[in-house]
Amino acid sequence: MNYYIGIDLGGTNLRAAIADTVTGQIYHQRKCPTLASEGQDAVIGRLVQLIRELIQAGGVDCDIRGVGIGVPGTPNIETGVIQFLPNLPGKWLNVPLQSIIEAQVQLPVAIINDVRAITLGEWTFGAGRGADTVVCLAIGTGIGGGVVVNGQFHLGIGGTAGEFGHHVVELDGLPCGCGGKGCLELYASGPAIAAMGVKEVMHGHTTRIGELVDHDLNRIHAGVIVQAALEGDPIARGILQQAGRYLGIAVGNILGVVSPQRVIFGGGVSRAGDLLLKPIVQTVNERVHVIPLQKVEFVLAELGINGGLIGAALWARRMREERSNGRGS
Ligand SMILES: [Zn+2]
Repeated sequence: MNYYIGIDLGGTNLRAAIADTVTGQIYHQRKCPTLASEGQDAVIGRLVQLIRELIQAGGVDCDIRGVGIGVPGTPNIETGVIQFLPNLPGKWLNVPLQSIIEAQVQLPVAIINDVRAITLGEWTFGAGRGADTVVCLAIGTGIGGGVVVNGQFHLGIGGTAGEFGHHVVELDGLPCGCGGKGCLELYASGPAIAAMGVKEVMHGHTTRIGELVDHDLNRIHAGVIVQAALEGDPIARGILQQAGRYLGIAVGNILGVVSPQRVIFGGGVSRAGDLLLKPIVQTVNERVHVIPLQKVEFVLAELGINGGLIGAALWARRMREERSNGRGS
């Protein structure tokens, strides 16, 4: 009764697993390259294939009740239509992903933003357990988020609450893909951190960043900066410090609105741990004076990639239950 398939549609990989939505256990995890440049039909074909493999792997004793898919964008959570996916090649314009997949796998399908899925997973089974007001930020290719308020997963209009990557942190800052200017994503996401690293190497500064990639600028990504920082490189640490200050400003703004007991940081860049958390918390302490900060915990996500899978499965369960309640059954 509790088994749902959770899927993360990522820019690099598709990941999927069967999740027990009562215990948080996951089974039969699968991964394949997204290859988004082959276009949406090819990606949808791979999603369907993964779902079929999992149904088979679960076997007859595993009563899979539905499928949840976390996507890197803001889908319409009621209709399961994707308006567009800014960080994925291909058009993905007004794609009714939910109905296309439902028709092929004969299971109810629900679509949600990928970081909203992580938030739901972490709140239920991970770093957010036991707290009734939680904010989650995932720092990766973009910066996404999710919000839980007073024990309720807060979705806002059509599931759009939690777009922390588009908090303005520079009044006349860089233009953003969202149409705005000076958004947090441009100063603290994985690509922004990588760009800072490229600049340092280009300027000829001696840094572990260059050594780790044999001075090939094309190979610098955020993971390289994090690695160099963890190895003690002062320039890499300075870059994370800078990103952390911007994140701290955004987090301070969020604290003033939501007043959460816990703020969770996930996504690939959060592997930097304290090297990122410290400048965030320091900036918050310097700037936020209207919230009792001693009562706010700043923590790292606990579930890694599984958080998104479990969260997508939880979302599928919630939508299935809501739809059946809506029908009065
Ligand atoms: Zn933006």
